[in-house]
Amino acid sequence: LKDRLVLNRDQPARSADGSQIELLANINNLADTQAALKVGATGVGLFRTEYLFLTHQDVPDEEEQYQYYRQIIEDSPGCAVTIRTLDLGGDKTVPYLGRRSEANPFMGWRSIRLSFEHPRLFERQIRAILRAGRHGKVNMLFPMITTLEELRYVNKLVEETRRNLRREGVPFGEDVKTGVMVEVPAAAVCIDALLRETDFISIGSNDLIQYLVAADRDNPKVAHLCEPLSPAIFKVLQMVLDACQRTGTPVTLCGEMAGQPRSVLALFGMGLRRFSMSPAFVPTIKALLSSVTTAQAERFAHQVLQLKTSEEIRTYLTARLHEIS
Ligand code: PEP
Ligand code: MG
Repeated sequence: LKDRLVLNRDQPARSADGSQIELLANINNLADTQAALKVGATGVGLFRTEYLFLTHQDVPDEEEQYQYYRQIIEDSPGCAVTIRTLDLGGDKTVPYLGRRSEANPFMGWRSIRLSFEHPRLFERQIRAILRAGRHGKVNMLFPMITTLEELRYVNKLVEETRRNLRREGVPFGEDVKTGVMVEVPAAAVCIDALLRETDFISIGSNDLIQYLVAADRDNPKVAHLCEPLSPAIFKVLQMVLDACQRTGTPVTLCGEMAGQPRSVLALFGMGLRRFSMSPAFVPTIKALLSSVTTAQAERFAHQVLQLKTSEEIRTYLTARLHEIS
């Protein structure tokens, strides 16, 4: 495996039998874009825009956001860039949006819920992303969607914003796709309904796991429950991936699991073909996938889905990993 790490970064990611896989980058700022390209990521699967907001004294205006997004797109020629709308709250707060003390910040006023409460801020961001969409292939991603009503509301806002831009004669990308993060268990359970009204999805396994097991991963007393290699997580992921396969909906997984070898083996076997991760993991994951065939990974995934405990899954996948590397 070590030798294969120096595998040409310009080679496409493929399994040993030639299945094509996309390895994308999670980025937090412009500088990360360079790092992503250097390791051979073929696109930006998740740009977390909140970092732009966290470094400001006030909400960045539309023009500044537009220029920033445009720069990222232009720095990634030929690559699709997925821009996620503001995901503040939880552990990330900015003073200028008002700070409320909440008993359960991760269950509270965070992410798209905060954008809904600041419609002008939200519209400004949607405008900036649509405008940036003129400069390349852009996907707009909405975090923490919980219900179909929320998705419909977001779709309506995007439609209205497009109409406004058109009326004002402001140029924008007509083919910007919109998608939802699947990271709240309610969204995973009702995935079929969501898929009918969205262009693509991205699975946020970090949040999906902590909400599924009702355990704060930053709380050392309970963090052990946030185990990605567990029967409950794989069952939910299989359900979501199957639904995407049935409807032909593009799906990426952009949580930490996407950069973890044992998880990747199982996810590839479950049919996932798009992984978005911190750039540093791309070479290892590329080398790993090149040493397993699709049929092998499918067998591994099938077996994983029969196992009843995390320990069994960990032991099983660790053995498979050694076997192929
Ligand atoms: C996730 O929840 O898995 C995710 C990718 O989003 P973030 O880590 O930014 O919450
Ligand atoms: Mg998340």
